[in-house]
Amino acid sequence: MARLQPVRGTHDILGDKSVRFRTIFEIFKSVASRYNHQEIDTPIFEFTETFKRTLGDTSDVVTKEMYTFEDRGGEQVTLRPEYTAGIARAFMSNGLHQSTPCKFYSYGPIFRYERPQKGRMRQFHQMDVEIIGVPEAQADIEVLALASDLLSELGIGQHITLELNSLGDPESRVLYRDALVTYFTEHKSKLSEDSLKRLEKNPMRILDSKDDGDHILIENAPRIGEYYNDVTKDFFTQVLRGLEEIGIDYVINDRLVRGLDYYCHTAFEFTTDQLGSQGTVIAGGRYDGLMEMMGGPQTAGVGWAAGMERLAELISEEVIVPPVRPVVVTPVGENSQATSLRVAHDLRANGIVVDMGYKGNVGKRMKRANKQNAVFAVLIGEDEIDRNVAMVKNLDQGSQEEILLSELSTYILGNRP
Ligand code: ATP
Ligand code: MG
Repeated sequence: MARLQPVRGTHDILGDKSVRFRTIFEIFKSVASRYNHQEIDTPIFEFTETFKRTLGDTSDVVTKEMYTFEDRGGEQVTLRPEYTAGIARAFMSNGLHQSTPCKFYSYGPIFRYERPQKGRMRQFHQMDVEIIGVPEAQADIEVLALASDLLSELGIGQHITLELNSLGDPESRVLYRDALVTYFTEHKSKLSEDSLKRLEKNPMRILDSKDDGDHILIENAPRIGEYYNDVTKDFFTQVLRGLEEIGIDYVINDRLVRGLDYYCHTAFEFTTDQLGSQGTVIAGGRYDGLMEMMGGPQTAGVGWAAGMERLAELISEEVIVPPVRPVVVTPVGENSQATSLRVAHDLRANGIVVDMGYKGNVGKRMKRANKQNAVFAVLIGEDEIDRNVAMVKNLDQGSQEEILLSELSTYILGNRP
């Protein structure tokens, strides 16, 4: 027999969860549109290369988390483990270099083979924002402002801190990299196995280690701020000034590095203490090196991704948009089916949410209508049909009134709460 559980780390979205997801997505869409971002939908799977080359072969995502398989034609493909690489690929495939700046937003499922726990799933959902083709700090400020607007419209701005860092321009990064290599090489024997690999390939990644032993070493590691050149300092200052200009609070966290390889300059996370250990709700940064890494011309980019499941836990009850309450049309007696169908059809044509009271005794059907949180029950019996009326029960007040069928939608639209 087939197993009836969902695969570990996946979940069904329905009921209250679905209402929360929908509310968040609608708010996201409206905020992103206000910044003139356009929707983009990229495929849920891409050639494995797209992610492997860009995310770097020391990232957790590439080394441990990708859902990769060979399809029937022998192609290596991977289920989307993050948005940016696919959007960058789409930017190049569609020849958008001549159309910059490109401002995109997207929403959909993301797949990572992780150890499932609270706030960590194998299929989860991200909302994503990217600005491509703007090397100036204004773009960093705008994507941060968009994130900040989103969080305040979700009613959770006050619980969230923006942590910010600069990973520097290529020159600063090389200087810092060398300092890290020197430092961690001296303490090589105490590094975790994963971090030993990172030491050779991408030492900055060690700062992102989740190993407790590494943390003690990281504490005393050189700090990136000491290696900033003038370009880096100037860029970072512009971002900070811009945020101050529009009243967005931040704290600088010079240990913040992003898990993926292609970032430079601004890196950031919006974090909360309300979700236990998985407290990052939005994360992103600047990725000016990405397109080149993928084999295209150098093109600047900056963006972020937000975790839907984590935001859905946090969202303020006040902003949740409940589903529209229906009207239940209830045929009473065999010969009122046809009229009931027509009435329901007319009401729907007038924009009213209508459910059918199908079959059963009337008392039971009224109970069901209450359970569906209906506003009105419209009872249609043979006697009513003869007189071209329906009995409309107001389920909140317990009152009822006979209404002419021709006036039914006007009555409902005028009297619903
Ligand atoms: P972590 O270091 O916690 O693994 P990450 O660097 O892998 O985070 P990102 O790739 O930056 O996370 O993803 C952006 C956001 O997507 C995260 O801040 C989080 O809200 C959400 N997210 C990431 N992984 C998961 C997951 N497995 N389940 C649910 N949400 C997730
Ligand atoms: Mg991760």
